[in-house]
Amino acid sequence: MIVLVAPAPPFTPPVFEGDLDAQVPIEEALRAALAATRAHGAWPAAPWRVHLHTEAGSFARATGAPTGRSAQWVGDVLHLRPWEQLKRRDLGAVLRHELTHRRLAGLDLGRWEEEARCLWAESHRRPPQAWPPAPTFAQQARLNRALAGGTTREQAWAYRWLRAWLRREPLPAPPGPAQPPRPG
Ligand SMILES: [Zn+2]
Repeated sequence: MIVLVAPAPPFTPPVFEGDLDAQVPIEEALRAALAATRAHGAWPAAPWRVHLHTEAGSFARATGAPTGRSAQWVGDVLHLRPWEQLKRRDLGAVLRHELTHRRLAGLDLGRWEEEARCLWAESHRRPPQAWPPAPTFAQQARLNRALAGGTTREQAWAYRWLRAWLRREPLPAPPGPAQPPRPG
């Protein structure tokens, strides 16, 4: 029996900046993540760069990202936390998430919807047969606000909400002073 295997997509490594000591493992992980996210959208032809920061402070200054964030796009540059921190996290999932952002960037999806698809791509090679029913416009607006400029608590809620939505599980209530304390 002859099994035909589709050829691996051509991989042009991005321009690599920063901590050159970890360039090889980062490029291997990027190659794997690009292959694993192929079904989530076309890879744009524009050049891109990867900046592996040597210090957490410079990553934070370049991105404004909270400490929980491992990677963040700024334009065509994918900023990565220092290797010492990154290698203790799930680098594959981080890169599948971020590369899917770049694949989806031209589609003009709502912020919540793009984020949901990237969360899905962390652990699925293909989109689902059908996405769950879209949230109400009010819910979408609340998610977009939380993702774009919310407090740490609001952002954490938005990610929890999107993960629950993708799994078709009960959706967590938003944080806020209006919420009564849980009984018991
Ligand atoms: Zn994201």
